[in-house]
Amino acid sequence: MPFVPDRVFIRQRALDYPLGKKLKIKFQKMGVPVYILKHRQRVTGIPKDNRKGYIAAKRTLVVSTVNTSKFLSSKPSADYQLPLLSGCAGFYEYCYLNTTLGKRPYITVFANQEEILARAGEYIKQHPDQIVTFEGSCTSDPPTEAYTRALTNSIIYFAQ
Ligand code: SF4
Repeated sequence: MPFVPDRVFIRQRALDYPLGKKLKIKFQKMGVPVYILKHRQRVTGIPKDNRKGYIAAKRTLVVSTVNTSKFLSSKPSADYQLPLLSGCAGFYEYCYLNTTLGKRPYITVFANQEEILARAGEYIKQHPDQIVTFEGSCTSDPPTEAYTRALTNSIIYFAQ
């Protein structure tokens, strides 16, 4: 069953990108409440109660942008994390995301995909004599692929 969030928050700066604009229209058409967040404005409406907050966070989608100046390491599985999104709609009890997402337990997708992939390309060019590897789902199992095509676009980019 496709993931449909209960609410969507879009950071104002994400609307500068085609994907941010597209997602705003898409979720509004689907009847999902969409809220625009100004700079530094916090995501609200996630209950403080642990169980209720956990469930609400898994149903909350944030559309944001990510700073691409430096990718985090993903050793030992890959050289770098490919920062496409974070969070997951799944409820697996053993999932390490439960303890790693801290104050941002909701699902976040990044609208500046082209910049992310271009930055990955720079890392590749910096190491012409080696295969540079990236991990696409370090902090997620992408429930939002149908909306963002983040992994699809990444695969096409790396293939080219
Ligand atoms: S990230 Fe993977 S293990 Fe964790 S909840 Fe999502 S699907 Fe389950």
